[in-house]
Amino acid sequence: TAQRSICILGATGSIGASTLDLVRRNPAQWRVTVLTAHSNVAELVKLAREFAVDLAVVADEAHLPALREALGGSGIETAGGPQALVEAAARGADMTVAAIVGCAGLAPTMAAIEQGRVIALANKEALVSAGEVMMAAVVRHGATLLPIDSEHNAIFQCLQGNDIANVRSITLTASGGPFRDWSWEQLQAATPAQAVKHPNWDMGAKISVDSATMFNKGLELIEAHYLFPVGLDRLRIVVHPQSVVHSMVEYRDGSTLAQLGPSDMRVPIASALAWPNRMDTPCAPLDLAAIGELTFRQPDENRFPATRLARRAAEAGGAIPAVLNAANEVAVAAFLAGQIPFTRIAADVEDVLGAYAPPAPASLDDVLAVDAEARARASMVSGPA
Ligand code: NDP
Ligand code: MG
Repeated sequence: TAQRSICILGATGSIGASTLDLVRRNPAQWRVTVLTAHSNVAELVKLAREFAVDLAVVADEAHLPALREALGGSGIETAGGPQALVEAAARGADMTVAAIVGCAGLAPTMAAIEQGRVIALANKEALVSAGEVMMAAVVRHGATLLPIDSEHNAIFQCLQGNDIANVRSITLTASGGPFRDWSWEQLQAATPAQAVKHPNWDMGAKISVDSATMFNKGLELIEAHYLFPVGLDRLRIVVHPQSVVHSMVEYRDGSTLAQLGPSDMRVPIASALAWPNRMDTPCAPLDLAAIGELTFRQPDENRFPATRLARRAAEAGGAIPAVLNAANEVAVAAFLAGQIPFTRIAADVEDVLGAYAPPAPASLDDVLAVDAEARARASMVSGPA
């Protein structure tokens, strides 16, 4: 097969690194054209040189001089700032991997969608915020959206060859995070260092905190609602501490299909990169006898209210998921900065949701305006005491 071009938005992050690890092992299949970062110039330069890319972009313009200096004479183009990020995504590639964290990835992801090619989506906050606006753009521009998030990738795989009209329910599995068995008193004293240490997955700081609060599963519920429109009442969450079953689809005849695999994001990423084919990964094969037991239980929405808030936001639809996401991003940053206790994250998100309910956005600009206003309000709520 012919070499395919690939653009990686958020190349210096955890998902970016896992993607480039797979690309590195299959040099004949891929030509990396664009890599972007926020501010990690040292890593971006290293990767840009290794993969001999066309263009390297830093979203934070303050780092552009350093990027220029480091790549001077290399023949690699450089650019900086949020607009440059959007233009880089709009160059289009056979595949764009959307791996920026947060709503900051929305505009470039939309620019890639508008090219009508294949988007491998890790950046769940972008889809949660833009919802119907993003899904409509996917249809309008004839783009293909392949989910990388392990649960959604699992569901996508379990739906292959089936009619979504025959789905009785979809169950997202959740590890439960590092505080799964902690009491409310313990949760109140949880520190950022404890929150970013996930038992099963090695991820960026923001999603690690989301996993600890269960906002990750809440965002994923909304993500699933947009990707797989079976109705919210057919979307379930079950806690599965071993993270072996990555999600399941139950059909009307009583058959449930599940996707299983090691807790290594290179598996779902490889599934998206090679789709509809398959490729090798270096991941250790699943050894069920060694794992021994797979367990499942109901989530506890008293200790972890995030999934309840997310379900409510998904039911409201329109702009409300964007408000929830923005408030969560601000609260997570405040928690990581030591400004609010862990249990304030969900409480603050609930406060912002209760005070701000803008009308449904009709365009990307509308979504970005809702995001900005929700952030401003959230900063008042989650700001330093
Ligand atoms: P990381 O924090 O590891 O990486 C984030 C990437 O985005 C980095 O390249 C970073 O650049 C860049 N970035 C950060 N802020 C901005 C900004 N304001 N503008 C432009 N670029 C920015 O995150 P992860 O790789 O863990 O997660 C990426 C996305 O994938 C998230 O949406 C997450 O929810 C999702 N995801 C991640 C999983 C995982 O296992 N990690 C699993 C499933 C989904 P720099 O390095 O310069 O800061
Ligand atoms: Mg996930």
